[in-house]
Amino acid sequence: MSYECSLERMTDKIQTMSKFGDAGHGGITRYTLSPEDNMARNEFKKRMEAIGAIIEYDDVANMYATLPGSDPDAKRIVMASHTDSVKNGGNYDGILGVMSAMEVLEAVADQNIPHKHPLTAMVWTNEEGSLYPPAMMVSGIVCYDYLPEDIKGKFKYEDMMKSKSVLDGESTFQQALDATEFKGDKKNRLNQDDYKCMFEIHIEQGPILEDAGNDVGVVDCVLGMFNYRLRFYGQTVHAGTFPMDKRQDTLFGASQAICYLHEEIDKLGHPELVYTTGELVLHPNVHTCVPDYVDFSIDCRHESPELRDKVLEIVKGCADKQWAGCKCEVEKMWNRDTVYWDKTLFGYVEDAAKESGYPYQVLHSGAGHDAQFVSYMMPTTMIFVQSKDGLSHCEPEYSTPEHCTEGATVLLNAVLKADKE
Ligand SMILES: [Zn+2]
Repeated sequence: MSYECSLERMTDKIQTMSKFGDAGHGGITRYTLSPEDNMARNEFKKRMEAIGAIIEYDDVANMYATLPGSDPDAKRIVMASHTDSVKNGGNYDGILGVMSAMEVLEAVADQNIPHKHPLTAMVWTNEEGSLYPPAMMVSGIVCYDYLPEDIKGKFKYEDMMKSKSVLDGESTFQQALDATEFKGDKKNRLNQDDYKCMFEIHIEQGPILEDAGNDVGVVDCVLGMFNYRLRFYGQTVHAGTFPMDKRQDTLFGASQAICYLHEEIDKLGHPELVYTTGELVLHPNVHTCVPDYVDFSIDCRHESPELRDKVLEIVKGCADKQWAGCKCEVEKMWNRDTVYWDKTLFGYVEDAAKESGYPYQVLHSGAGHDAQFVSYMMPTTMIFVQSKDGLSHCEPEYSTPEHCTEGATVLLNAVLKADKE
């Protein structure tokens, strides 16, 4: 038998949470552990206490609200996402996963749905890393021992505590933690002994579901990716006095390299492959100077390691060429393999989606989420909800209350399947 979540209750949560950090033009700015984030956290606490959930915090301010099950020895099933946002972000990224987890517990309490395992709704601290970098900081800390070696190095506890606020360049994440009322015990951290598996609902953040007319996404993996840097070295000369044919203009060279990369990578002919230059550094960045130095990022994502290798060959090949007379160096920043979700949990979500009757499809995640790090520690999976126009990390980010509730219903029924196992 399948159960349903409440549209009315979900709509109320969306409207309430959207006030915390309301920037006055449709979206929110809710940095982790800020007064606005604390309001969202207190709302979580208040609503979860109201249904009799036990509230716990760990040493990195993650919050856990647990409804006991019928078997006191059973491990917990956790549903988690984040309450923090990027600057001028939307009302759904992260918080939808928290509201869905709350909604599942509320539906279970309201309808007296029998369950054996304790069910936990969890709030991750600092997923966005928008105030204290990096992104996914706290799941990196909590899952540290299980992370692959090359990822691990970026999430050392001591280093993370020193992360400085991007606003004042001085105050640290440690100070924010010490000041928060949500700091608790390290022993409460998500762990393998007390928890059986994790689910995360998130907005899709892309247009695939909407274009296909599907409401819900059953996510099978997070795409593998690489992130490289191309650096160009030339010579600064005066913009007015130095002839064009004698220049080593690094910006002109880098522009040619970007066009070359697009042409060559597109020739591989894979419409699912995505690659991006999103960051560019220019020196001296003065309008009367020919730039002597440019570097830019190239981020590439696809499920297949073979295809990523082909793209990487093209990227690395840039170092063998001259670009407008400038030398180019190619440097690896980092990469990660495709992370596949747990097959059994994936099956529960797909069955729950099928039984619900909502239009759904299987799809990949192109973005990183806390669930990705958790998957190294315990069985984990994700559910997506349609994003209007594919927009996210911006104020017009939107998912209908109906779609959000459908996602929560799929989550509820998938969790109940995991509970029976
Ligand atoms: Zn998110």
